[in-house]
Amino acid sequence: DAAALVARRDRSLAEVQEHYYDAPPRIERGWREHLVGTDGRVFLDMVNNVTPLGHGHPKLADAVSRQLRRLNTNSRFNYGAVVEFSERLASLAPDPLDTVFLVNSGSEAVDLALRVALAATGRRDVVGVLEAYHGWTYGSDAVSTSIADNPNALATRPDWVHAVDAPNPFRGVHRGADAARYAPEAAARIQGLAASGRPPAAFIAETFFGNAGGIPLPDGYLAEVYAAVRESGGLAIADEVQAGYGRLGHWFWGFEQQGVVPDVVAVAKAAGNGYPLGAVITSREIAARFRSQGYFFSSTGGSPASSVAGLAVLDAFRDERLQENAAEVGGHLRRRLEELATRHPLIGAVHGLGLYLGVEFVRDHATLEPATEETAAVCDRLLELGIVMQPTGDHQNVLKTKPPLCLDRASADFFVDTLDRVLTEGW
Ligand code: PMP
Repeated sequence: DAAALVARRDRSLAEVQEHYYDAPPRIERGWREHLVGTDGRVFLDMVNNVTPLGHGHPKLADAVSRQLRRLNTNSRFNYGAVVEFSERLASLAPDPLDTVFLVNSGSEAVDLALRVALAATGRRDVVGVLEAYHGWTYGSDAVSTSIADNPNALATRPDWVHAVDAPNPFRGVHRGADAARYAPEAAARIQGLAASGRPPAAFIAETFFGNAGGIPLPDGYLAEVYAAVRESGGLAIADEVQAGYGRLGHWFWGFEQQGVVPDVVAVAKAAGNGYPLGAVITSREIAARFRSQGYFFSSTGGSPASSVAGLAVLDAFRDERLQENAAEVGGHLRRRLEELATRHPLIGAVHGLGLYLGVEFVRDHATLEPATEETAAVCDRLLELGIVMQPTGDHQNVLKTKPPLCLDRASADFFVDTLDRVLTEGW
C-alpha cells in the first residue's frame, strides 16, 4: 500500500529526496489532467507543470517507444530527429536566437547557459534575483536564492553570485506603486559591479516570477535590466524552464510578455512532457565563443528518443492547440478565482497569466501576513477531495496552480468549486 511504499522509499532514496504530502497517495497511472491511484481513486492534477500535454499521451508514448525499438543512443551520431528537433525549437525563437545545445533537464540548461555566458564574456560574476529557483547543479544551485527550497540558500551563496531584490509588486520592499524602483535598482547594482572592476558575465532571471508565487514582472522590468547588463558588456539569460512553452497562454515564451529578446535561453520541463529533455538557445555568435571550453557533449541530452519526444510535444502543441487552451481555460479559471476572492478573505490575491496562476493566502489584507499553515491545511483537504495541489513561495502561502495545459473547463470548474467548498466549510 501507499504507506509501505513510503517506508521503502525512505530506506532506499536519500532522505532529502522531496515528495508531495506526508502521506502521499500511491499513483499508478494518469490520463490528461487526471491521476489514478492504485486503489482506483482519481485525482485532478493541478500542479504538474512538467506535462503540458497531460499524462499518458498516446502519440508521445508511441513515438518514443517506436524510437526506443529502432535506435536510442547519444546525440553524437548524425541522427535526423536530433537535427529536426533542434531546427524546430530554434524556429520558435526570435532572431538572433538560432542555435541550440541539447541537455536533459532544467538545471543542466541553466548551468550551461551560465557557462556559455562566462565563456562568451571571459568574466565570472553573475547577477540574479532573490527568491529565485534555477536548479540543483552546482551553478544553477548557486544562483538559486529561494529560502523556501533551501533555508541556507543565502548563507551559502558563492561570492560570484549577486542577487537583487525580488521584483514582486505584490509583496516586498517596493510593494505597489514603488515597484517602478526594482529595475533602476537592479541596473544600478550591475553598474556598481562594473565600476568596482567586476562587471557581470550575465543577469539571470525567470521571465515571470514563478517560484515566488506566479507573479508577473513589473512592466518594462526586463527591458531596463537587460539594457544595463548589455551596456556593461554582459549577457541576458532567460530561465524559461517554467514560463516557456505556452504556459502563460498568449505568449509562447515568457520574455515575449516583457517585450524583450534575451541573449541566452534555458528550456526544459515542457519540452519533453516528462521525458528528459532540455536545451539552451542562443545566437550563432555567442555559441561560437563557447569553443574556448572545448566541445560540448551530453551522453543522453538530445538523444534520438528525447528528440523524438520533443518533436511529438511540438506536434501536440500545434494539433491540440495547447497554448490557446492555456489562454482560454486559464482566463476562465482566473476569473472564477477572482470571484472566489471577493467572498473568501483568506485569498489575498490571484496572481499569474495563462495556466500559471498563484492563489495567495493571507491572514490580513493590509499587512499581507502569510497564511502558511492554512495553505498547507487547504492543500491536504483538497487532496482528500481529489485534487493534487502544492504550496509555493518563500512563505509557502500560495497555491501553485500549474496544471497540464490540456486542462478543460470542467476540470477548472471542479477545482474552483472544490476550493470554494473547502474555504466555506473549513479545512
Ligand atoms: N529553473 C526553473 C525556473 C525551475 O522551476 C526549475 C525546476 N523547478 C529548474 C530551473 C530546474 O529544472 P529541473 O528540475 O528540470 O532540473
